[in-house]
Amino acid sequence: MPKLSCPPLLKIGFFGGTFDPIHTGHEFICEEAIKEFELDKLLLCPAYQAPLRNTSPLFTAEQRLAMVRLVAENHSRVAIFDFEINKKQASFTWQTIQEVRRIYPKAKILLLIGYDQFTQLSKWKFLNELSQAVHFVVFAREQPRAPLPTCSELSFTLMNNSLLNISSTSIREHLHQGNSIEGMVPKGVYSYLQTKHLLTNSNQI
Ligand code: ATP
Repeated sequence: MPKLSCPPLLKIGFFGGTFDPIHTGHEFICEEAIKEFELDKLLLCPAYQAPLRNTSPLFTAEQRLAMVRLVAENHSRVAIFDFEINKKQASFTWQTIQEVRRIYPKAKILLLIGYDQFTQLSKWKFLNELSQAVHFVVFAREQPRAPLPTCSELSFTLMNNSLLNISSTSIREHLHQGNSIEGMVPKGVYSYLQTKHLLTNSNQI
């Protein structure tokens, strides 16, 4: 009798964010998740406009996508998922995950998220549907402790990662004040901002 062998299940990481701009903390999360969960692929998905944000990003969708692409180019397992940017409107994560599942129907999907966003999960649309489709990987972040979300289907792993005191907000503030952001963003991203003269003319937050 022929031996039955099942192809191993693909393990896909999904990491969404406004990435305004992408920073070294985001890159660290990608590297940690790939290593810890032996991901086959990690999809970086810049949002056109995050549904729960009421301000427009500082950098355009094209600029944010270009910077995310530069990070992806440096990591063989990281790929761009530009579904939300292409839609040119706010997308709920559940809609985007359905697209991921259409492309990778058999994959196990791990959704990477920072603790600050995870504790806001009860505000997300279609949370029950999303919780049935993904496993959340929650990265610790310097912030006051907040209660974990309650949702019966939620499956998650709390990461015990070293804390990185960095955010896109702090980068935008540095730019606004005319301070250097060298070292806060990956090298390629810094060169991009330099070349495009985006390090000095950012007069809004
Ligand atoms: P902003 O300051 O504009 O809110 P951000 O730095 O939080 O931006 P986002 O693009 O909103 O960056 O983040 C995408 C995801 O990365 C979110 O889930 C967020 O919680 C997580 N994240 C960002 N920075 C860190 C960090 N330093 N440590 C852990 N998680 C982080």
